Amino acid sequence: MRNDAPLVGVLAMQGAFAEHQRALEASGARTRLVKDLEDLEGLDALVLPGGESTTMTMLMERVGLLEPLRDAISRGLPTLATCAGMIVLARDVTGGIEGQRGMGLLDIAVRRNGYGRQIDSFEADLEVAGLGGKTFPGVFIRSPLLESTGSAEVVATHEGRAVAVRQGSILALCFHPELTSDRRLHQELVRMAGVGRS
Ligand code: GLN
Repeated sequence: MRNDAPLVGVLAMQGAFAEHQRALEASGARTRLVKDLEDLEGLDALVLPGGESTTMTMLMERVGLLEPLRDAISRGLPTLATCAGMIVLARDVTGGIEGQRGMGLLDIAVRRNGYGRQIDSFEADLEVAGLGGKTFPGVFIRSPLLESTGSAEVVATHEGRAVAVRQGSILALCFHPELTSDRRLHQELVRMAGVGRS
């Protein structure tokens, strides 16, 4: 990897961080797993992976990362948030555990596991605005359901519902691009990271 390649942090409390790391490296980025405060230093972009939003938030709080991460993202650190990562950033969270709250950085209301138990995992081909070319393979695993998208821009829908949004330097997805071989969304984050640096 080139030394001047953007450095992208992947929050590594729990969940699908290793897959994101591989996808980012295949997209031309240097990566760093983010486990504590020092790991935030010098990042050009960030990934908040899928996993379990309750556990992820609790662990961030425990290691003192919750507020510093919120600050960094609100100051414009380009961020790709997938699934549980999207929940972590949300304005409103329903279906969570008692008292579960998002960081309030993304103007969306999400219902955890909102696609229901019957169809908790599925795949769908998605038209993602700005990607061009062929559809993107959306892999949904106990995904949050977007109930409102406020001032966020909807960049992909599935059966009439938003499944990907963009707001400022945040790109948030209900699905898991790290579980496919399509690297276009990771490449988009790497591009955003480069723009932030220049
Ligand atoms: N259901 C999980 C949560 O609420 C999210 C699922 C996922 O990230 N694949 O945190």
